[in-house]
Amino acid sequence: MIKHKIVLLGDASVGKTSIILRYSKNIFVPFQESTIGAAFSQLNTPLSKGGTFRLDVWDTAGQERYASLAPMYYRDAQGAIIVYDVTSRDSFERAREWVRDVKANALPDLQIWLCANKTDLTTQRRITTDTGSLFAEETSCKYAETSAKSNVGINELFTSIADAISERC
Ligand code: GDP
Ligand code: MG
Repeated sequence: MIKHKIVLLGDASVGKTSIILRYSKNIFVPFQESTIGAAFSQLNTPLSKGGTFRLDVWDTAGQERYASLAPMYYRDAQGAIIVYDVTSRDSFERAREWVRDVKANALPDLQIWLCANKTDLTTQRRITTDTGSLFAEETSCKYAETSAKSNVGINELFTSIADAISERC
């Protein structure tokens, strides 16, 4: 069977695991233990034209600290979701580095979704929609805003990925 591998990347605690849990189980865990290594989920994702498309999503952890390990996770991926936390400027800077690293090491046709998470924290927000979407545009990434907590933008994100990857098959 053809695998459609998607990797989740981004700084520690930006909400990578929460995005997967919201999408796959429709739950939100306020205080989550960080995952070690990579966890893999098979997600049957609805397409906007109808039907579903299977995405194999790799949730990574630890690589936040060991950046040199990351290329083996995304080398054969068709898509990457690079997540940052809109309340953390550092996590946005780190996401920008991830975009550069992934572009330098991944398959040439890999599509990146830049994902601005925790948009429910409106008063603590530091990175605006304009800042995020401009960077995405400059680097040919797709841009998504999500809240795993409030379940905003998550289904749209995965359907956008399934639509884009399925069109290439
Ligand atoms: P990861 O290290 O990137 O996998 O991040 P986690 O999914 O473990 O989330 C880190 C922390 O941020 C946890 O306490 C989550 O409950 C919290 N979190 C994740 N997503 C959101 C969100 O959309 N909004 C808010 N307010 N908190 C979130
Ligand atoms: Mg995690």
